[in-house]
Amino acid sequence: MEILQEKKTNVYKFGNKTADGNSQMKNLLGGKGANLAEMSLLGIPVPPGFTITTEVCTEYNLLGKEALITMIKEDVEKAIENIEKIMGTKYGDKDDPLLISVRSGARVSMPGMMDTVLNLGLNDEVVLGLAKKTKNDRFAWDSYRRFIQMYGSVVLGMKPESKEDIDPFEEIMENLKDKREIQLDTEFTIQDLQDLVYDFKDAVKKRTGHDFPTDPWDQLWGAVMAVFNSWNGNRAVYYRNMHGYPEDWGTAVNVQAMVYGNMGNKSGTGVCFTRDAATGENVFNGEYLINAQGEDVVAGIRTPQQITKLGSERWAELAKVDEDERIEEYPSLEELMPSIFKELNEYQDKLEKHYRDMQDMEFTMQQGKLWILQTRNGKRTGAAMVKIAIDLLKDGSINEEEAILRIEPNKLDELLHPVFDPKALKRVKVIAQGLPASPGAATGQIVFFADEANRYKNSILVRIETSPEDLEGMNIAKGILTARGGMTSHAAVVARGIGKCCISGAGSLRINYKTRIMIVDGKKFHEGDWISLNGSTGNIIEGKVATIEPELSGEFAEIMTLSGKYSSMKVRTNADSPKDARIARGFGAQGIGLTRTEHMFFDSNRIKAMREMILSETVKGRKQALEDLLPMQRGDFEGIFEAMEGLPVTIRLLDPPLHEFVPHQLAAQKDLAEEMHISLEAVKSKVAQLDEFNPMLGHRGCRLGNTYPEITEMQTRAIIEAALNLKEKGIVAKPEIMVPLIGTLREYIEQENVIRATANKVFEERNDSIEYLVGTMIEIPRATITADLIAQRAEFFSFGTNDLTQMAFGYSRDDAGKFLPIYIEKGILKVDPFEVIDEEGVGQFVRMGIEKGRSTKPNLKIGICGEHGGEPNSIEFFYNSGMDYVSCSPYRIPIARLAAAQAEIKRDKT
Ligand code: ADP
Ligand code: MG
Ligand code: MG
Repeated sequence: MEILQEKKTNVYKFGNKTADGNSQMKNLLGGKGANLAEMSLLGIPVPPGFTITTEVCTEYNLLGKEALITMIKEDVEKAIENIEKIMGTKYGDKDDPLLISVRSGARVSMPGMMDTVLNLGLNDEVVLGLAKKTKNDRFAWDSYRRFIQMYGSVVLGMKPESKEDIDPFEEIMENLKDKREIQLDTEFTIQDLQDLVYDFKDAVKKRTGHDFPTDPWDQLWGAVMAVFNSWNGNRAVYYRNMHGYPEDWGTAVNVQAMVYGNMGNKSGTGVCFTRDAATGENVFNGEYLINAQGEDVVAGIRTPQQITKLGSERWAELAKVDEDERIEEYPSLEELMPSIFKELNEYQDKLEKHYRDMQDMEFTMQQGKLWILQTRNGKRTGAAMVKIAIDLLKDGSINEEEAILRIEPNKLDELLHPVFDPKALKRVKVIAQGLPASPGAATGQIVFFADEANRYKNSILVRIETSPEDLEGMNIAKGILTARGGMTSHAAVVARGIGKCCISGAGSLRINYKTRIMIVDGKKFHEGDWISLNGSTGNIIEGKVATIEPELSGEFAEIMTLSGKYSSMKVRTNADSPKDARIARGFGAQGIGLTRTEHMFFDSNRIKAMREMILSETVKGRKQALEDLLPMQRGDFEGIFEAMEGLPVTIRLLDPPLHEFVPHQLAAQKDLAEEMHISLEAVKSKVAQLDEFNPMLGHRGCRLGNTYPEITEMQTRAIIEAALNLKEKGIVAKPEIMVPLIGTLREYIEQENVIRATANKVFEERNDSIEYLVGTMIEIPRATITADLIAQRAEFFSFGTNDLTQMAFGYSRDDAGKFLPIYIEKGILKVDPFEVIDEEGVGQFVRMGIEKGRSTKPNLKIGICGEHGGEPNSIEFFYNSGMDYVSCSPYRIPIARLAAAQAEIKRDKT
């Protein structure tokens, strides 16, 4: 009798227009594996192979190598047999060998972060068979030396020992090149390649103490485990943390028949994009190299050639290569191999239409036959992201909702950074030209090593080329400049992905890591010297260049208009000055959710009056000082109201503990005593009196107004008078006066009474009036629990989620730096709750506050003005909790508007 047993499938085959998986199975097969399966199903030529699932990776982490091999050995052997059947060759065979690649592939693409090994199955005997079968010794030995090099580096740990060192295999190759007086890998003779194989193996033996593995199956298992291990390698871990990808995703492993781009002049390898990943322009583009394999294009070993004629002409102009030389030395694929180009062009079109998004593809040509090795949704800059979404919308590939969902809110940040002032650009000195690999404006001081990027506040990372280890430094630097590599080089791809300004392939730079000097046109630039990069033109500029604020225009503006159409929740700004208010309004702010009045008092000419007010022992003295402050505050409010004409402006009454305003240094205390004509002792004793054990929970917020009502009076008067003054000029101001840090209804009523009485008094004096609201911040847990009571009087709520988080967790925000990072590292907390709202806890206070408040006043206006108001995940939560608006800093406005629209679209869909 047959025993039926549920057995998990560990291995998914693809190739020959069939596949066990498909593109929907990214979580299980990884992005690469899922798309290889899908392409196979679409009839696109992919070398046959199979994918070992991400679940197996997770098992590996639990079971270890031996148990894992036992678990999947049979499946893997069967799957290899399947490849052998399709290819008509045999793995490990001495006469007609099959070679394979072992490729990593997590569910999201992590370019260059994980490891891949090519040409497995070679050893001293197999290489001879391969040479004989293909009648191509050069190819066979080139493949063998590449194999030892990659396997040695990835599986056997043959890496440079320090940052000034070069790769141990590169070093052997460089030495041989010097000896033979040649420049390029392609110039090696067959004998050279054989010598390299010998020397490489020797180096492995010396460094690791073991012989290089000759058994093809040992090679295969070694590589599979190395790929699994690479998921937990430093690079990958950093990348995962940067993007918040959880550890338990794991990586899949793809094992695939090799196809050979290194078989001679009719072979080659390349990378291409269906649209421009830097600008979003709808042009097919990419780079290739003849007689090359794997990452040669990306690694910048030789100058890659362009796929299209148009691209080639554009490149030649930037690289200062004239037309004759271009055609002779660097022809495009379109010109050199028109029929392959035509086929590639068809696939790129087919794949983009199929996936309805820009594709990033890898291909290899083996003696005139085209193979596609990878496709994925391409990484792109913020600008390209926006343009591509709008273009796809316009050509009908996606609808409006999809266009909005295609935008990664945080990536809009790139479009909000300062750009070079066009006027300043006219006067600069351009010292060299490279390829405009990733747009943006960067000014900074030169560093030559990624781990030194934090040496200066603004640094420019200058490298011959970058490698995956450099990711962290690339992220810190303001811009990246490389001497080698094309538009698809590692530096270029990574820079676009993280939205960094990057110029690649600036061939005229000579960089010496040992002396830390870059020479351009005979002029030396040292570490620490200032340069500027224009990532849109490829211009490298000496010194600093002035910048200006970016604008909301073109496709960016279109996306924002669309977002407005799909979101009912409003987005306001936190702004303390007319300037910020204007910037925010330019980005589409629909009012101000928080004006902090205290910032206005720190101004050097105001702090004196403020201090007099604080140090005064009597009500009368305080009132006098406040009288000095009144016209200044009124002026501030007029400016802000004017900038926000017609839109609501929430002004918070004085909130911080008073000790923040008084001097704590002896010298400053002396100055103050002199200015105020009081004794130093008096100043000292008052400062000491203000000292609190726990200022965050001390004399602050409405407790100030409730102990010194004259402060509330003055601030209310300034607000109302400012609004009336504007009214006279025909400008509508809509003040919303906000009482901070309310815990009980009574606290609120006391303040509201002062506010209303003052306002009425001003109305009487002026014989005129305006509309205004009085409401409160909800930021103390008790206020959320008694929100139904507070709503009896308050006309609006604004959640202060910074204080609410602080008090709900009992974490002092100012001291949390000591333990939060450790908590996050240990996984006690997933994210910093001051950055992303803690839905499970703090979020429940928010929900309760909203429900209770609206149970009393169904139409109660409710918003949030904490830092979380600009964070996309939190915004989604606030939308789903029923808020009327979120408020955030001016530069986050577009991000918040988009996140608000996405939240609404996502909810409507479910
Ligand atoms: P990454 O994830 O870093 O892009 P890949 O697994 O895509 O790494 O491998 C890198 C390169 O190796 C590919 O772009 C391709 O050129 C080459 N490569 C991988 N597998 C094969 C294969 N079976 N035949 C030929 N080239 C391959
Ligand atoms: Mg790849
Ligand atoms: Mg607060």
